Amino acid sequence: MPIAQDTRKKPLSIKVHVSTGEGVEITWSDMHTSRYDFPYLRDHCPCALCNDEREKKAKGGTGASSALLPMYKPRVTAKSANAVGNYALQIQFSDSHATGIFSFEHLREICPCQACARDFRAATEETTA
Ligand SMILES: [Zn+2]
Ligand SMILES: [Zn+2]
Repeated sequence: MPIAQDTRKKPLSIKVHVSTGEGVEITWSDMHTSRYDFPYLRDHCPCALCNDEREKKAKGGTGASSALLPMYKPRVTAKSANAVGNYALQIQFSDSHATGIFSFEHLREICPCQACARDFRAATEETTA
């Protein structure tokens, strides 16, 4: 059975600017364009490893050692990006992290613009109980 797909999460065109390091630009079926730079995508990598790391960071507010060592992080770019079927984008980052498969659904939800923040991310916090 065909899945009723949200047109807002269906990409019309995908541009990945690997060589310039600019990031990813996606135009969606509702004519909305999202732009992500690679560090942003790296931060939102949906793989299990990064999920774990984010959870640890969210919990550990007391880590004094991390304050002592402000890590110099070179700006993350991408080495390559490949389409995975027609539902996702796999990005190989310059820090050799390549397990992140960004489904278009996820990408639309993490669109950095304000309209999408309101549409996709406010909904989870707003409970009409
Ligand atoms: Zn990851
Ligand atoms: Zn948006």
